[in-house]
Parts: sequence; structure tokens; C-alpha cells
Amino acid sequence: MSDFKVFEYMAKHKYEQVVHFYDEATGLRGITVIHDTTLGPALGGTRVWNYESEEAALIDCLRLSRGMTYKAAAAGLNLGGGKTVVIGNHPEPAQAEAFFRALGRYIQGMGGRYITAEDVNTSTSDMSFVHMETDYVVGLEGKSGNPSPFTAKGAFYGIKAALKYKFNDSEISKYSYAVQGVGATGTFLIEYLLEEGAKKIYACDINEKHIAALKKKHPEVIFVKPEEIYSVAVDVFAPCALGGILNSQTIPQLKATIVAGIANNVLLDEDVHGPMLREKGILYAPDFVINAGGLINVYNELIGYKKENVEVDLKRIYDRLLDIFKIADTENISTQEAAKVFAKKRIEQIKNIHSNYIKK
Ligand code: NAD
Repeated sequence: MSDFKVFEYMAKHKYEQVVHFYDEATGLRGITVIHDTTLGPALGGTRVWNYESEEAALIDCLRLSRGMTYKAAAAGLNLGGGKTVVIGNHPEPAQAEAFFRALGRYIQGMGGRYITAEDVNTSTSDMSFVHMETDYVVGLEGKSGNPSPFTAKGAFYGIKAALKYKFNDSEISKYSYAVQGVGATGTFLIEYLLEEGAKKIYACDINEKHIAALKKKHPEVIFVKPEEIYSVAVDVFAPCALGGILNSQTIPQLKATIVAGIANNVLLDEDVHGPMLREKGILYAPDFVINAGGLINVYNELIGYKKENVEVDLKRIYDRLLDIFKIADTENISTQEAAKVFAKKRIEQIKNIHSNYIKK
């Protein structure tokens, strides 16, 4: 028997709502968690995963939804944090419509408190089925489109901010880079760096096809073995693959003085590895701030999509990171912690402006 106490956990981290749903006809079993809606409706993707237990699914959903609250708050968006996890495998194509329409009906039932989108193992086609039952879904085909180039563009501005803070000069061409992972986002990031004149870019991947595709387009990129990427002598290390890659084994190997990339949950244990980076004098651009470009893009779908507005919002990542780096130095805390202070401050401020009575 597990001793996980959901209400204690909810009280500790100030969650608003946990919804379990089960659809007998399709076998859909899932959980939606709404963490905090001070700033607006909770937004977060739907992840389909074959969890080892129901408790593992619940804990993942709780953790991910809280991350979305901070991500949206730090990005200056009027969104709260939420997430859906669906337990099991993605349905076969013939079952997908009923499965995702069933999901759409549960989301509709939440009355707009939660808005979903794609995440791991869900596609725009799945979301088009969700959309048949609810308008509370974004990231649809023909709307804001593939988030990867926007995420990468935001990270590009984030790298410039880190260069400015560390070296007082954000000229991309003057520095060298190591990019871990050349998938959907890593490839765009490399292209933005090359366009700005970056001369030395190292990269790695575990997928030979992705390596070959990048080499064909940009033969100037130098590939190293995946385990060598940490110790390449560069200015900026950009993780664009997996989470948890900065830990007590990899941090001592780093030669870069800046870590600024796209992957989520880069620090294996943020309470340990955030301060460890700080002690080593490595400037870490907090993941949920630097990789918010995709969320910023999809948010614009809700307020009337205009690409030029998205570009303005993406550029704001630059100033936001400078503010966060300053908080970290002033308060002598890790940049990851400073990013949370920054996000929580905005939530508190907006909560307070809601305290006066206005007649409906
Ligand atoms: P992707 O799957 O397209 O690319 C990831 C790449 O990393 C793949 O080419 C994969 O082969 C490679 N890889 C996996 N393990 C590796 C290893 N050990 N060493 C080297 N390479 C490895 O994914 P993506 O969309 O580019 O996302 C990358 C990361 O960024 C993920 O952590 C994701 O959660 C995060 N992220 C993505 C977006 C987005 O808009 N796509 C937004 C925010 C955060």
C-alpha cells in the first residue's frame, strides 16, 4: 500500500483541483490537475503514458501542472498551470477518434478552467478529435502551428541574455556552442546561431538519422560522441534533448560558463544542482523561462494569433532572464530558485489586484 497523501500534497503546494476520469466505452483513464488559476485558465498538454502505477501517473500530473503555473507566470501570460495525463498506450488509429472525443467531453465539463494541447504521445490529429467536443484546446492544425521554431527562437534570445550578463557582450558570433540533441528544437536553435554568425558549434545526438540530416544541411557543425558533449571547451552548453542531464556526474565535466538550452527539467535535483552550478560560476538560464517560446506561441492563439506579436513576446525572454539573473545575485540563490521567486511574485501581485470589489 502506498502512503502518498494527495490532500497533504495539494495543501503543501497549493493545488486547486484534481480530476480523475474513466470512460467505459473507450477505456480512457486519466487525470487532470489544475494547480493555480490566479492568472487565467490552467493550460497544459495531454500526455499519454503507460505509467507503472496510478500513483506514478498522479504524481507526474501534479508535478507537471505546477511547472506550467511557473512557466506561464514567468512568461507574463494570463494563464494558470494545468496538465492531463492519460494512463496507457496511445489508441490504435481506428479507436483514436472515440478516445480523444471522450477526452474532449471531460475537458468541456471543466467549463474552461483547463485548456489542453499536445504533449508527449499526442498529436495535432488527436487534438482535432478533442476539438470536436470542446473549444478548450490549442495547438490545432492550421492555427499557431509547430511550436519548435518558436521555442528555439525564444531560447536564442535567452542565450543572448546570458552572454550579455556573463560577458557584457551578446554578439553571438564571438562565442562557441555545444548543442545536446539535434531534434525538432536543437536543429532550429543551431540554424538561428549560424544565421547570427556563430563560427564554432559542436553537437551530438543518439539518432543517426538526425545527425545525418543536420550534417547534410550544415556540414560546418562538429559532431562529438554523446558522452563527450559535456566536456567540450565552449562558452555555451545548450541542452536540447532530455531532462535530468545536469547532475553530480556531469556538472564537474562542464567547461562552458553558460548553460542555456531548451530541454525541460535539466537539473536532476534543482535544490542540489542549481546551487552546484552557481558555486562553479556557471550561469544557468532556468529551463522553464528560456524554453517558454512554444507556450507563448500557443497562448497567442487564445488572444487572436498574430505572428508579429509572438515575435515581440519571444524577445521579452531576453529582459526577463536578465531580471532573474539579477535576483539570483542579489539574493545569493540559484537562478532556478530566482525564476520561481520571479514567477510567484507576479502571481501574488495579480492576486492582490483582484481583491477589490467590482459589480458584475
Ligand atoms: P525531439 O525529440 O525532437 O529532439 C530531441 C533530440 O535529442 C532527438 O534527436 C534525440 O535523438 C536526441 N537525444 C535523446 N537522448 C539523447 C542523448 N542522451 N544525447 C544526445 N541526444 C539525445 O524533442 P524536442 O521537441 O527538440 O525537445 C527537446 C527538449 O526540449 C525536450 O526536453 C522537450 O521537453 C523540451 N521542450 C521542447 C519544446 C518544443 O517546442 N518542442 C518546448 C519546450 C521544451
